[in-house]
Amino acid sequence: KERTLAMIKPDGVSGNYTDEIKRIIVEAGFDIFKEMLTQLDKETASAFYEEHSSRSFFPHLVTYMTSGPVFVMVLDKRNAVSDWRALIGPTDAQKAKISHPHSIRALCGKDSQRNCAHGSDSTSSAEREIKFFFKDVNSG
Ligand code: ATP
Repeated sequence: KERTLAMIKPDGVSGNYTDEIKRIIVEAGFDIFKEMLTQLDKETASAFYEEHSSRSFFPHLVTYMTSGPVFVMVLDKRNAVSDWRALIGPTDAQKAKISHPHSIRALCGKDSQRNCAHGSDSTSSAEREIKFFFKDVNSG
């Protein structure tokens, strides 16, 4: 078994997609080991996306990520990291609607920023991100 960090971003939560996304997660064979609704402040959102701090879109990303509550989950499954990334689909939700119409970003995303979901991109980032939100949880 492997663990990953999944997040429903502010547009997903405010658009009332949380229950539907949780249903999709469970149907795909993941166990939701931990879950938490939380409001990110600027400092926390900046630290979470630290790797993008030099990108031109970074200030917009921080504004977006702090625009409302996010729903954070630790998911357990064999190949959780790559399977969750596959389930959410490509970063750009516009493209996801065409190339991956059954993906979560096709379901609730709008564009390359407002893409309604996040998933750790490797086992090492999963470890970091799980610790970031759930200090007492190991990465499996
Ligand atoms: P995430 O890390 O949130 O799962 P990702 O790995 O698919 O997304 P990254 O390239 O890591 O994509 O970008 C992180 C986030 O920054 C994206 O999910 C999106 O919200 C935002 N972002 C990425 N590219 C752009 C862009 N060109 N313009 C605006 N926002 C962007």
